[in-house]
Amino acid sequence: ELPPLLTREFTVIEQPADADNQFRIMQWNTLSQTLGVHNDNFTECPASALEWETRRYRLIEEISHYAPDVLCLQEVDHFKFFQKALGTIGYSGVFFEKPDSPCIYIKGNNGPDGCALFFRNERFELVRTETRVIEVWKVQSNQVVVLAILRDRRTGHEVCAVTTHLKARSGALLSAIRSEQGKDLLSFVSSHAGDRPIIVCGDFNAEPSEPVYATLTQDGAPELSSAYVQATGAEADYTTWKIRGSGEVCQTLDYVFLSSSRFSVESILPPPTEQQLGEARAPSFAYPSDHFSLVTDVSILPS
Ligand code: NDP
Ligand code: CA
Repeated sequence: ELPPLLTREFTVIEQPADADNQFRIMQWNTLSQTLGVHNDNFTECPASALEWETRRYRLIEEISHYAPDVLCLQEVDHFKFFQKALGTIGYSGVFFEKPDSPCIYIKGNNGPDGCALFFRNERFELVRTETRVIEVWKVQSNQVVVLAILRDRRTGHEVCAVTTHLKARSGALLSAIRSEQGKDLLSFVSSHAGDRPIIVCGDFNAEPSEPVYATLTQDGAPELSSAYVQATGAEADYTTWKIRGSGEVCQTLDYVFLSSSRFSVESILPPPTEQQLGEARAPSFAYPSDHFSLVTDVSILPS
């Protein structure tokens, strides 16, 4: 018997000027099934909480509970499952795999992991999608981007929605690589967004103090701002909290960036509290990933 899904309450910043314009964005690193079971070495998470047969429904439960209109995912190594399950509740999605996913080197894997972007069909229709393998110093890296131009069926507005997962691990070189990946990401987004408001979600594998965060928020081409900062003055206190054999990790690595001055940010979902998580942190029976979803309600401002 599973405990109830660990749920959270929104922090409401303001009411939308026009409720019809508001839509919901979710950013989530869902934890690859193969990596979660074989690579992460989550010492406090019972193995049975990671079994795909149960965990997969928890993943869908988290998404359906918050019912985002735009859903940006990373570490997806069961896209067909997400597509089928989310398809039955009104979503369509696009997937792009990493060229040399670490998953494929693990026995019994379910294929490469990658990024996936879903949208709720009732609210958005797909105009087109683009994908990219991120380049660093002109050479392809193992990180990818999925971009979708989506048209709001209610308002006719088009948005450019993007999901990515930058290079993991710490060190000066890796921090520099992430910053270069951020620049490549921005130029890719710029080349496809046109004048549309932009939503860039991802697991950037970087704290706000890292160069890539400044690259994203201060380069100015395109001009982006963090949704959580716009709403509350600060990023989430943490977006991942886990205990591995190598130790405890509690960090802010995931973000929702929006075109500056194009959106009002009306509510945000804070991470689960330390008390909610308990000593074992995440993942657990109550929460299926080591990263927490970021969810925000936004409206496009009149231009
Ligand atoms: P990344 O460094 O970006 O990491 C890939 C994944 O590993 C991410 O999903 C990341 O999750 C996760 N990860 C990061 N730190 C840890 C950790 N301490 N424990 C467990 N998982 C972690 O890798 P690349 O995409 O650049 O791919 C290169 C990797 O592929 C190499 O690191 C290598 O391990 C693997 N590889 C293996 C080969 C083999 O023969 N075994 C051959 C070629 C590649 P998150 O973002 O949530 O931190
Ligand atoms: Ca991971």
